[in-house]
Amino acid sequence: MLPFVSFKIKQIDIMIVTRFPPSPTGDLHIGGARTALYSWLYARQNNGKFILRIEDTDLERNSQKSIDAILDGMNWLGLDYDEGPIFQTDRFDRYKEVIQQLLDEGKAYRCDCSPEELDAVREQQRANKEKPKYNGKCRHRTDVPVEGSVVRFKNPLEGDVVIHDLVKGDIVINNRELDDLILARPNGVPTYNLTVVVDDMDMGMTHVIRGDDHINNTPRQINLFEALGAKLPAFAHVPMILGDDGKRLSKRHGAVGVMQYRDDGFIPQALLNYLLRLGWSHEDQEIFSREEMINLFKIEDVNVAPSTFNTKKLIWVNEQYIQTLPAEEIATHLQWHLDDQNLDTSNGPAITDVIDAHRERAKTLKELAHNIRYYYEDFEEFDANATKKHFKTATPGILQNLLDKFSAVENWNTESIDAVIKNTCEELELGMGKVGPALRVAVTGVAMSPSLDVTLNLIGKERTLERMEKAVEFATAKYAD
Ligand code: GLU
Repeated sequence: MLPFVSFKIKQIDIMIVTRFPPSPTGDLHIGGARTALYSWLYARQNNGKFILRIEDTDLERNSQKSIDAILDGMNWLGLDYDEGPIFQTDRFDRYKEVIQQLLDEGKAYRCDCSPEELDAVREQQRANKEKPKYNGKCRHRTDVPVEGSVVRFKNPLEGDVVIHDLVKGDIVINNRELDDLILARPNGVPTYNLTVVVDDMDMGMTHVIRGDDHINNTPRQINLFEALGAKLPAFAHVPMILGDDGKRLSKRHGAVGVMQYRDDGFIPQALLNYLLRLGWSHEDQEIFSREEMINLFKIEDVNVAPSTFNTKKLIWVNEQYIQTLPAEEIATHLQWHLDDQNLDTSNGPAITDVIDAHRERAKTLKELAHNIRYYYEDFEEFDANATKKHFKTATPGILQNLLDKFSAVENWNTESIDAVIKNTCEELELGMGKVGPALRVAVTGVAMSPSLDVTLNLIGKERTLERMEKAVEFATAKYAD
């Protein structure tokens, strides 16, 4: 009988539910992306549910552009959600219903204190060296008109609220510290603290993982959950990300929306990897596959101290990904940059071969796309610095010698190309340093490329010969005696 009983118990295990609820008042920024990642990982590692909720109750500051940036960012990062996007503006009736319920049950009240009155109260409290907060004047009034009044929560007056925070440990706040927070504005629009609790309750949230800039809201929200008879979620408050000056990361530090990282040439998995490590570690491992992230991440092990954003480290992580991901996968991410830089790769070598030849030399996909143009398009001019450095009076002769030999090659491959270069060096009694760089500039237009045999093989015989002819002409006109 016993094994059957334990099987039954397993069946009723509650489903883990987490969420990411950005307010669409700007881009999806790095800090938001990191909390989204942590919430997503927690849901995925527990076979739970991850919900995307758009907290768009601030009608004046919302924008469709920002909603799009959030959806694009989540999509680009591969943070897929099981429900959503759920828009809070679609749930106003529900919030009204809950506010009415709290009023009916005497857990909330209407307040029509004017801003001047509230200011005066706070002024007085400050003068008495007390913490400024609402004095509860309307708590027991029954004659407050609906028109023009706010709805306030009747926060308990006594006792402690304890947050069992998964990152920060237990935090105790006395109810005397807490205000009777406003649940609805005079125009009836519900406030963040009300909507977030109603949603987390209705959506069966088991874990609220968010930035610790919200920690002051949490005891108020806990009281509200309790007033509604709802099951409390577990809380995990993640420390902020700081800029290198120790201040909270912001636009001033050049911090930008997540999609800018795509534009700058980062691989989404590399950005996720960097964000994961920013504030969490597993031994001294730096690179984590998606599966490893899901299996190894522990919310309890997130650092209590804030972390500092380090662009150099992010670039290093990106480089590791460029060097090691399968070329096919890089190609899918590279496509956006090829389109952006107007480079059509249909007329040239397989992009995966070019990626393999170039991946060691690029820190970003943007750079990679920029570096590979000469495989697909002829260049108008040789790079001036490159010719200045590598074209000499002897160059036309050397290039012509190579050109004659290349023309005779029947099987164009790295070995035959290598053999031609070696033969020319021997024949002209020149070191590789006198031949290679000039050949590279002649065929690629620039001074840097992978090894010559690989580069020329990818460029192909026909294009190589054409370009060398042009180079001989150019060098003859400019450098020959
Ligand atoms: N909309 C809030 C924000 O963007 C969500 C806070 C929360 O996770 O409860 O900061």
